[in-house]
Amino acid sequence: YFVLPEQIREGRVTIKGGDAHHIARVMRYKAGDVIIVCDNTGRELIVQLEHVWGNAVTGRVTTERTALSEPRLRVTLAQSLLKGDKFDWVVQKGTEMGVYQFWPFHAERSVVRLSDSKAAKRRERWHKIAKEAAEQARRGRIPEVSNPVRWRDVLDHIPLFDVAVIPHERERNQSLPSLWQSLSRVETCLIIVGPEGGFEAEEVNEAQQAGAYPVYLGPRILRAETAALTTIACTMWAGG
Ligand code: SAM
Repeated sequence: YFVLPEQIREGRVTIKGGDAHHIARVMRYKAGDVIIVCDNTGRELIVQLEHVWGNAVTGRVTTERTALSEPRLRVTLAQSLLKGDKFDWVVQKGTEMGVYQFWPFHAERSVVRLSDSKAAKRRERWHKIAKEAAEQARRGRIPEVSNPVRWRDVLDHIPLFDVAVIPHERERNQSLPSLWQSLSRVETCLIIVGPEGGFEAEEVNEAQQAGAYPVYLGPRILRAETAALTTIACTMWAGG
């Protein structure tokens, strides 16, 4: 199962690079074998292989269908940059769980600050992680990971979503069953998760004023990546 944008033309698929190597040398597919290819727009193509070399593989599309694995609800995760490989982990697991796109951002207390050149390298890595996770989860598309954005950009985008939530451990009265229920009737949801040290109270206020709902995930302090995945699970359960 491969998600391969830009390599499908007029009923023919040409696969090069690492994917071709994987098909020919690792999986040892032969001409005549069948693979499933996704075009990254949610369409699944059944492809019969015609030529299999080590560095290039070609095939013919025999059937097309809509990928059934894409969630109905488009969930965007705005996640503050995290230390070490934690953001990688969030991209991998979030992709498996159906996140539509990721927005890394710099919060007031973010420990990690990325220069433009470092961000470009990280983004390449995140894309690779998202592609592999999308293939393993048999998704119809690879979620995009944006360049790191500013907190102000996240705030400006809150009103553009049908629902926006900001998990916060001090919002004990905010379990909001009606909020989760509303996710079955809307199309887009933004989840905003802070850094290791948490949000500044001011940031939560600003997000609330822009229209985000604070949500409480229970009486335990979760690590940022756990809070992200828990909220994704809740939204997918309620609206996916
Ligand atoms: N200020 C926290 C502290 O006391 O150490 C740390 C923040 S927590 C490690 C990281 C992120 O997860 C924050 O965005 C926080 O709001 C969220 N979070 C952690 N536990 C939560 C809970 N029980 N309910 C909602 N959000 C939670």
